[in-house]
Amino acid sequence: MNNSSETTVSNDPPSVHRRAIVVDMHADTAQRLVDENVDLEQRLVDGHFDAVRAKEGGLDAQFFSIWVEPELFGGGGASAMKRADVQIEAVRNLASKHPETWELATTAADIRRIADSGKIAALMGMEGGYAIDEKIENVERYYKMGVRYMSPAWSVSTSWAGSSGDEIGKMRGLTDFGNQVIREMNRLGMMVDVSHVSDRTFLDIVNTSTKPVIATHSGCRAITNVPRNLTDEMIVALAKTGGVVNVIFYPEHIEPGYSEKKKKVDAEIASLVQRASDEEKGDVAHKKLARDRVRAQEYLKRLPAVSVSRIVDHINHIVKLAGIDHVGIGSDFDGIQAVPADLKSVADLPNLTKELLRRGYSESDIDKILGGNMLRVMEEVIH
Ligand SMILES: [Zn+2]
Repeated sequence: MNNSSETTVSNDPPSVHRRAIVVDMHADTAQRLVDENVDLEQRLVDGHFDAVRAKEGGLDAQFFSIWVEPELFGGGGASAMKRADVQIEAVRNLASKHPETWELATTAADIRRIADSGKIAALMGMEGGYAIDEKIENVERYYKMGVRYMSPAWSVSTSWAGSSGDEIGKMRGLTDFGNQVIREMNRLGMMVDVSHVSDRTFLDIVNTSTKPVIATHSGCRAITNVPRNLTDEMIVALAKTGGVVNVIFYPEHIEPGYSEKKKKVDAEIASLVQRASDEEKGDVAHKKLARDRVRAQEYLKRLPAVSVSRIVDHINHIVKLAGIDHVGIGSDFDGIQAVPADLKSVADLPNLTKELLRRGYSESDIDKILGGNMLRVMEEVIH
């Protein structure tokens, strides 16, 4: 503020937003760094994230998802590990190549210090445990490389943990090895993420973990009934561990009925998507990019617009069930093919604060939702 007439603290939405430490728990931009070699110092014309828009959006810390798509890179083995390693290297390079913009962080104290300096903190979480290759020592390997959370499974079950995304996952909780992984994460100080795991695996995780458990990008099943979302019982159980549910921005997971409509659209556009994939001459990652580009275009045309107020519906529901201390945000930007109409990219994050104020949240509540609750969990888990 350089306006000398402003002697009192102003409570307009942009000011409230700017004062908060904003921590987004999940974005898939690391794959763009690897596969598209995007320059995050520039305002990108596509995708949802770059440093220019992050600064406009008042973002202070971004957890980059280290995601190994098992169907493309294997559910384990050398190729899964390599896919994780190159993404980690790409995130670390952000800070080494552009120290004026980025700084690598692993703790809450790092985030507070970096936010104070006006830079953006870059952190890493692993989405799905494929890259640990069923070896306990690899949990520490990735911890040492900077990874500070891990979900046991993405949409494909591992041998040791069930996913909400496949049939086998419905029957599978954590095996003995799975429990060992959770205990090792607790020992090291790596947060356990339940986004994407099956209900059985969720239950085993909250029973095994001695530290707060988080969901990095999930919604409420009571509002939007998809297997990926958390039931009321799960939200209460997670909050009892001291953890945080970070609400995803993806329309399919927040808007009632959207998933069914999307399934219809997916059937309608299947040949279009296939053609884009066939015409792309690059590697498997580029073929996936080509498919996702067509999906994004068609979803925008064919599916209903969703607004930021729907995200706040999920936040409200979690607050009602578990209180204000157990909710945060996990956008899933750059990992989703549709976004809310008034939250199209990280630059639009202030619209979320505006809606939270409109719905009656105080500034201290908003501070907790935007990042304060996750800073508390990080202080408790990471040492
Ligand atoms: Zn995900």
